[in-house]
Amino acid sequence: MRTSGRPRIALVYPSTYQASITNLFTHIAYYFLVEKSDALVDRFTLDNPSEGAITSRKLHEFDLLLVSANYELDLLYLSKLLDRSGIELSSNKRRKKPIILVGGLAAMANPEPFLEVADACYVGDGEILLEKLARSLSLLPDKPADFLESLGEGLYTGEATTEKVYVEDLNDAPHPTAEIRSKNVEPVYGEGFYIEISRGCRWLCKFCLEAYTMYPFRYRSLETIKSLVGEGLKYVRRRRVVVYSLSPFDHPRFRDFLSYMVENGIDFSIPSIRWDTLRLDDLDLISLSSQRTLTLAPESMNRDLSCSIGKCFNFDTFSELAISALKKGFNIKLYIMVGLPLEREEHVLETIKHVKYLVSYSRKLRKNITININPLVPKPHTPLQDHPLITEEEYLRKVEFFRKEIGENRVTSLRWLYAFLQSLIALGNREIGKLAVSLALRGLSRRNIVELSNTLGVNTEYPLRWRSPSERPWHKVVFPLDHVVNKLSL
Ligand code: SF4
Repeated sequence: MRTSGRPRIALVYPSTYQASITNLFTHIAYYFLVEKSDALVDRFTLDNPSEGAITSRKLHEFDLLLVSANYELDLLYLSKLLDRSGIELSSNKRRKKPIILVGGLAAMANPEPFLEVADACYVGDGEILLEKLARSLSLLPDKPADFLESLGEGLYTGEATTEKVYVEDLNDAPHPTAEIRSKNVEPVYGEGFYIEISRGCRWLCKFCLEAYTMYPFRYRSLETIKSLVGEGLKYVRRRRVVVYSLSPFDHPRFRDFLSYMVENGIDFSIPSIRWDTLRLDDLDLISLSSQRTLTLAPESMNRDLSCSIGKCFNFDTFSELAISALKKGFNIKLYIMVGLPLEREEHVLETIKHVKYLVSYSRKLRKNITININPLVPKPHTPLQDHPLITEEEYLRKVEFFRKEIGENRVTSLRWLYAFLQSLIALGNREIGKLAVSLALRGLSRRNIVELSNTLGVNTEYPLRWRSPSERPWHKVVFPLDHVVNKLSL
């Protein structure tokens, strides 16, 4: 083991390079550590699993791997990535460096499966971790156990109960202005300065992992946002801003921010909008940007069903908004969810009827409406955490129905197998972590899931049935709203 020199930190994003530079934490972590610590920092993704993007060093030469796992399947991709680098996957068997510390939505909501690979998971906002980490780096590489212990609150190792830690005021949290860019690959939403204007979402829809794990809702002041944008635009090739927020129109000064950008010749894109926060006159402002598609997620177009999950749908209001958007030249991408609690055939029929009406309108205007269907995937810490995942048969039947009624070419859907795997890991325990690792090594297929779960003696039927509160492997990870959620989900 190396006993001297600068500590080495690898930022690991277990997805494509493009996805990594679309994730804001990659930029925050990279610039924070480069500027505020003496660590040697490099970045690894599935596109460069073995060699760092900057130093070309091998992953196993690093003392600490800081991993972002925002999606459950990242556990499989991470395992693959580590395996390709010759790093022992099992945290119990790994005797040498590196330390593997995993954060991100999926890992913090239920760290148990991730601990099969990770030495610890971080339950909280990454900026707090970075501050602590920078102070403790002198303990690396020689005192890894002391290093982990020094990180304190928010660190989950499977032993003690851990409460989520979070930044109270986003204005005080670091936000990079120079973001990582590549000559060959643009981030997913295109070139421009990416800014997070708010975190969390006040609507708390009953299925929404982001809203419950990112609680409380916080936002940056307009002054902070303007100052970040002013600086950030100096370093990008296009005078364009991509707005990160779960529901941007909930920011009290968002409309002022949009007007500011229009007045200053700044193009912008708003990837996600809660439809009932959008006013008709907002469409005028947005149409001044180059954004030509609005992504709206009513989930269901039946009023009672949608209200029961926290997204009350009203067809008159929605169709007025959608038609007005189409007339102003926007295409619309709709997100629909099936497998909701108490969902009946007539609810699905009603959604199809409304979508068909809007589609026929869009045709007249030569605009496009597409529909993306997802099953409800039950997630920890949400009021629907104990709800069963829809069966494959039922899911395929409903998706087929949408396809037939609305048109093959307009409807895309998540593969049920992926939803099943997501729920398996989201709701799973350490044993499921073992299964996920074996699956990553052998290859993702139905047959391998069945064979490996038999060999390992791991139960995989639980996502498809109601579960009791005693079946929550994440119970030692505490989020601010758990006391309310636990009552609601009984
Ligand atoms: S509005 Fe969107 S982000 Fe907010 S809680 Fe509902 S689903 Fe989640």
